[in-house]
Amino acid sequence: MADDETKGQQLEKELLMKPKNLGENDAGLLEKASEFCEGYKQFLCNKTEREVVDYTIPILEKHGYKEFVRGTKYKAGEKVFLNNRGKSLIMVTVGKRPVADGMRFGVSHIDSPRLDFKPNPLFEDTDMAYFKTHYYGGIKKYQWTTIPLSIRGVVIRRDGTSVKVKIGEEEGDPLFCITDLLPHLAQNQMKKPAPEIVEGEQLNILLGCWPFPDEKVSGKVKLNIMNLLNEKYGISEQDFLSAELCAVPAYKPSDYGLDRSMIGAYGQDDSVCAYASLMAELDAKDPEFTTVTVFTDKEETGSDGNTGMRSLFLKDFLEDFVSAYGLSARHVLMNSVCVSCDVNAAVDPAFGEVFERNNCSFLNRGPVVSKYTGSRGKYSTNDASAETMGFLRSILEDAKVPWQVGELGKVDIGGGGTIAAEISIHNLDTVDMGVPVLSMHAPLEIVSKADVYLLYKAVHAFYMSPKAK
Ligand code: MN
Ligand code: MN
Repeated sequence: MADDETKGQQLEKELLMKPKNLGENDAGLLEKASEFCEGYKQFLCNKTEREVVDYTIPILEKHGYKEFVRGTKYKAGEKVFLNNRGKSLIMVTVGKRPVADGMRFGVSHIDSPRLDFKPNPLFEDTDMAYFKTHYYGGIKKYQWTTIPLSIRGVVIRRDGTSVKVKIGEEEGDPLFCITDLLPHLAQNQMKKPAPEIVEGEQLNILLGCWPFPDEKVSGKVKLNIMNLLNEKYGISEQDFLSAELCAVPAYKPSDYGLDRSMIGAYGQDDSVCAYASLMAELDAKDPEFTTVTVFTDKEETGSDGNTGMRSLFLKDFLEDFVSAYGLSARHVLMNSVCVSCDVNAAVDPAFGEVFERNNCSFLNRGPVVSKYTGSRGKYSTNDASAETMGFLRSILEDAKVPWQVGELGKVDIGGGGTIAAEISIHNLDTVDMGVPVLSMHAPLEIVSKADVYLLYKAVHAFYMSPKAK
């Protein structure tokens, strides 16, 4: 006890929590975090699940990962991956302990809210051509007007060949947008409730206004656009029927703030956790327990479909992987622990009334561990057990990684879920961990660089800890 410290001050230190901004304890952290986040900004340029998988596989191969071969009994230190339809990915580093002792799972999602194109998207109105969209995930529709958009995706042509589309990301590419009404004429629009200010059927992407020069054709602007697409991609209007195209914000990930302490970008939910867990996976050298890092799709629309977490693709892979050791997946899962890596809402003083400050997460206070998500009376959530919380806590504290807890806003305000519920259904101890985000699900989301870096540290500590649960 310092000479001038009172009994109360001493007890306060011993008994009470005093959360602090990360910079107060480690002034050098921002520099290390900024360095780490350079790679993260690159990763963020991949804005759909397909692009993330395409980007990640060569990195895995460079780090010695081999494609998983059924029936192989992999040895400690070996690294394998499984690509599920180019939209979800499983990455494994075999641990020194027997697989039967359990595994360490880190699961994140690589889809983000966006504007998918309808199957028959191209139309002309008032001498302008547009793509019709159907929004994907939870968005505030009005946020998607008057921002630069890029178009990306894949088209399967009649002959079965596929072509990848990406327009609006390279220097010199044209950009796209959705228009909004001028304030001068918006008297009625501005009186509407926010979900109706811009309606789903108004989210049409402006493609052009120049006609195809032929008097005998109607819909000349539409024809001109289709002709340009045909010249570039060899597609006709019918090919849209077998395509997955979407619009996403076109701007590049950047440092934000005068102190450059933050990153602003589209799709940080959940690329921030995907990147942190990927780096932890790549850096998992001779772990005690086998690590399993999963990138999953369709989280933003409820995890349905064969590439989402409600699919059995992970369970089936595990069955194949562990049967080589004469084991059943269900027995291995019982002994395993999973960190469901997803973001949480950072307290935003501009909207302070929706947050309960003792239990919500703050920017720049480290990774946020969420015991449960869901809504109202804890519906639709994995509620991590005290034992699972205690297990993760002991790992983070041994590794000296600062962390915080986080509930998603006040009890009666709303809520939301993560894939933790889809994972724990397999009788697997699961807990949520991620970073706090400002403006989550907006076309521009903000995170703290130090939080991103410490999430990597946290997942890495979880992967490398020899501690048995
Ligand atoms: Mn998420
Ligand atoms: Mn989300």
